[in-house]
Amino acid sequence: MLCFDQNGKIDILSLRFDELEAKIVELGEKKFRAKQIFTWLHVRNARNFSEMTDISAQLRIRLEEMFCIKSLFEVKRLESCTDNTVKYLYELADGNHIESVLMEYEHGNTICVSTQVGCKMGCRFCASTIAGYKRDLTVSEILLQIYESQRLSGRKIGGAVLMGIGEPLDNYDNVVDFLRIISCEQGMNMSLRHVSVSTCGIVPRIYELAELKLGITLSISLHSANNKSRSEIMPINDKYDISELIAACRHYFAVTGRRISFEYSLISGHNDSENDAKQLARLLSGFTCHINLIPVNKIKERDFHSDRKSAYRFQKYLQDLGMNATVRRTLGADIDAACGQLRREYEI
Ligand code: SAH
Repeated sequence: MLCFDQNGKIDILSLRFDELEAKIVELGEKKFRAKQIFTWLHVRNARNFSEMTDISAQLRIRLEEMFCIKSLFEVKRLESCTDNTVKYLYELADGNHIESVLMEYEHGNTICVSTQVGCKMGCRFCASTIAGYKRDLTVSEILLQIYESQRLSGRKIGGAVLMGIGEPLDNYDNVVDFLRIISCEQGMNMSLRHVSVSTCGIVPRIYELAELKLGITLSISLHSANNKSRSEIMPINDKYDISELIAACRHYFAVTGRRISFEYSLISGHNDSENDAKQLARLLSGFTCHINLIPVNKIKERDFHSDRKSAYRFQKYLQDLGMNATVRRTLGADIDAACGQLRREYEI
């Protein structure tokens, strides 16, 4: 994606490999130079052109004139005492803040990245939405959360979930370029099987994403199988209701063969009754998918609550109806690892 800084220089980290190659050829250089530069940027995480020692001094000067290498600034870090979860608060060049959370799973380190500054989706239980939406993140700002967290922690990151601040499918073009760059052979070469994109349900984008057949896992924030109660907590449901959303999910599965993951945050007294479980089972019966139950995280601005006990009770209701569901493992509970809470503290 072509983006510029305030001096009119091209943000080189936001360029896909094919875009960088075209720019380097435009400069009258051989194609293989693009590969060298891309590796410096996305594998060795060079922060200056002067580090690129296998590139001639003359070309480095021209690169410097034409391009800039963006960076993020760590403002705060919270490390969990109970597991290896680390939450980073980063400041962007324009003074905005975003969060990233590094987590340890059995198969390695995975990072939860933000895709926007704030969010306009308005989900009632989510802290990211309270101060509203400011702007989309650029491709480089999404990528740098991985590179910077990897550098600061000294831990190799093998997977990513787009479940931080923002709605990924509301920043569709940048998110798709981000996915192409992290999975690029000449770059980090991350397997998209280890990447999840989570959406509150922007239906037309689900159809578009299906056509790309990227191999990612699509996570749908469902949180209710009933239109009335879903609309009460998720305004997006008034635009694309549950039947439209499920039709898009069935299409996605038919085209990609990738099993969809449905996120269901349990809110006590709102969506956790036996009847809610019955409606969910009816909605998803016969659909190859995974249901992930999450006791809602308390946020100080709202009165929603739940606990693990009711999550297990809801899981049992589903099991009795022949549906499999897991209760999501809580990571970093002592550092409020979830959902935009640190940024909120910092902005106010
Ligand atoms: N906008 C995207 C991704 C960001 S949120 C989406 O809606 O999917 C990642 C997940 O956390 C979503 O399933 C979201 O609904 C859920 N979530 C947000 N706030 C939460 C809270 N307080 N407790 C539990 N889950 C929450």
